[in-house]
Amino acid sequence: MAKEVIPVTPEERKEIHRAYRRMVNGVEPKMNEEDRTMVRKAYELAVKAHSKQRRKSGEPYIFHPIEVARICSKNIGLGPTAITSALLHDVVEDTDVTLEEIRDMFGMRVEKIVDGLTKLDGTYKAENMQAENFKKVLSTLVEDVRVSLIKIADRLHNMRTLGSMPRHKQLKISAETEFIYAPLSHRLGLYSIKTEFQDLCFKITKPNTYARIEKQLAETERERSIYIKKFIKPLKKVFDELGIPYRVFGRSKSINSINNKIKTKHVSFDEIYDIFAVRIVVDVPKEEEKGVCWKIYSLVTDVHKPIPERLKDWVTTPKSNGYESLHTTVIGPDGRFVEVQIRSERMDEIAERGFAAHWKYKGVKGASGKKGEKDVYEGFFESIRDVLESPNADALEFVSDVKTNLFQEEVYVYTPNGDMKVMPKGATALDFAFTIHTEVGVRAKAIMVNDKLVPMGHELRNGDQVRVQTHKNQKPTENWLKLVITGRAKSKIRTAIKEEEKKIAAYGREAVQRKFNQLKINGLDTNVDKITKFRKYPSHLNFYADIAADKIAINDVLKDFEVEGGLLVLKEAKKTTEVIAPERTLPSNKKGSKGKLLIAGENANQYDFQLANCCTPVQGDDIFGFLTTGAGVKIHRSACPNATNMMANYAYRIVKAEWAGGAESEFIVNIKITGIDDGPGVIEKITTAISSGLGINIRSFSISGDEGYFEGKIGLLVANKDQLNIAIKNLKDLENIMHIERDDIEL
Ligand code: MN
Repeated sequence: MAKEVIPVTPEERKEIHRAYRRMVNGVEPKMNEEDRTMVRKAYELAVKAHSKQRRKSGEPYIFHPIEVARICSKNIGLGPTAITSALLHDVVEDTDVTLEEIRDMFGMRVEKIVDGLTKLDGTYKAENMQAENFKKVLSTLVEDVRVSLIKIADRLHNMRTLGSMPRHKQLKISAETEFIYAPLSHRLGLYSIKTEFQDLCFKITKPNTYARIEKQLAETERERSIYIKKFIKPLKKVFDELGIPYRVFGRSKSINSINNKIKTKHVSFDEIYDIFAVRIVVDVPKEEEKGVCWKIYSLVTDVHKPIPERLKDWVTTPKSNGYESLHTTVIGPDGRFVEVQIRSERMDEIAERGFAAHWKYKGVKGASGKKGEKDVYEGFFESIRDVLESPNADALEFVSDVKTNLFQEEVYVYTPNGDMKVMPKGATALDFAFTIHTEVGVRAKAIMVNDKLVPMGHELRNGDQVRVQTHKNQKPTENWLKLVITGRAKSKIRTAIKEEEKKIAAYGREAVQRKFNQLKINGLDTNVDKITKFRKYPSHLNFYADIAADKIAINDVLKDFEVEGGLLVLKEAKKTTEVIAPERTLPSNKKGSKGKLLIAGENANQYDFQLANCCTPVQGDDIFGFLTTGAGVKIHRSACPNATNMMANYAYRIVKAEWAGGAESEFIVNIKITGIDDGPGVIEKITTAISSGLGINIRSFSISGDEGYFEGKIGLLVANKDQLNIAIKNLKDLENIMHIERDDIEL
């Protein structure tokens, strides 16, 4: 935006300094000496660095960073570090000053912020890459929210001064503002900035409509202020008696929102009743806020009749961007509807300045009220992180995921325990399952809303109570992605699908490797590369998955190739290669004191054998042996989740295994239980169920809970399967236990 022209004149120099002093003097709370010096140094460096640059409007460039710093301080409530960074935000990109110099002069924090801002700017060079830009902005947001806040201030000043830009650039910048910065400001609770962004964009995209509404607002202003006075007068009388400091005033809605009402409600300007709202702000300590707000509500509705369905209580339950306020609509003089907003000074500051104010109060008061309650922004940043880390999501998908989380209004739903969850509007029963726990989400089998079974994609409504039943064998499919709208659920589903694919592919890979070994083919990746190219597979993973799923046979694949010097070479003519199964050579190391076991009818001790970790068999279980490539014989349970794959693909490696009776050893069994946490004593009930009269030892026990669900992991020492079965039966008899698994296999 800068171009080289005439150096700064002495007149301008004075004006620059005045602008700077206005900015510094406006900083609240007042800065200490050290901070003042830092800000001053930044100012001097910026003045020097930008001294040869002017903005498109012709004014010296330095006015821009000063104004950005002022917005940061005044409208967003940011402190000295951010003010310093704002003054320097364009020097690295536009001048000779380097990041190293900034670090030496101002330290690491300022350097990091300026670096973040410079990198963000870099991305804006790309045309039509809004989705990518969006991603960049959000990445910096979760790293250091100040970078995003300064960027918002930067954008606000650029939007305010867009007049001197050519029309096509105006349109592009305002499109981007509407697309990224307005929703982001909204989500960070910066209401007045969001409103200004929308009005500025509207003014650029539809200048005529904007001008018309602006004119109508001006023409009706006198009439409006007379009406507001009439409305407020009887209220003041009763408020005064309370003896609490308060402010009450009328406030016009933004031009953009008036236009939206005209458009969506198909009414004319004169027919909109909520062109303005009356706001009542009380100055009371935090502990008294709620009571006083409701007191005011009661006084207002004594005077003006309320419309009950318009009551919105964001005092008890703040919006997810931190907004707190009590809204209602009443019937004022002449039967006109009037929106009334009741809030405290603290709530008002949060509503105007958003994020920074939110943290200011949070810092003062310590933890955010109710125990275990997640801070509204933590949840937001978490969901951004979820989406950012989500595999496979392309840029456009990413944007739609994030927009869901950024834009949506909210619905409030409840766990079986009565805990409230805030979800974006449009969220489904399955989305809900993922907010409880990833494990609950991916294993969700049946979902009840208000005690009625619903489809997974059922859209939730305010006040719904949702109960999720899980099943261990449940697995997410591609189709699930259509049943959810939250970024969190989508990303968890994608991850689960991918992991499942990997698991399956690993079997395929093993099969291919083994085949290559037989044929003395060297180098798995190089040779598989030739196959995937020839067969047009997008990746090795897909090829391995097809092998594992028996969609293709490795022998058929290899018919198109010859082996030359340990490498696969494509051939034209097809000739069948006969493949001979590998010879079974069984090592005969002695090992194991894991009970009496027969492998292939012989004493197991002559084999190198181990009990498999994936299903940890105990004496009495149905078992089989599996010849591994390097670790001898592994003993699995027939119920092992891997059994099907092993049997399907490696039937020739399966050997018979059986217990030989007698129980002089102990087996470790891992049990996982999930249930509803019905209060204290849960742990005792479980331990009693396991050990009562059985003499089973509990080797380890851990329990974790969230939102009325708990998950317990228990390590047991048992002598045989009978013992284990009794313990499991006792657990099943407990009322609050929903689900029992032994080594990932549901019982
Ligand atoms: Mn800038």
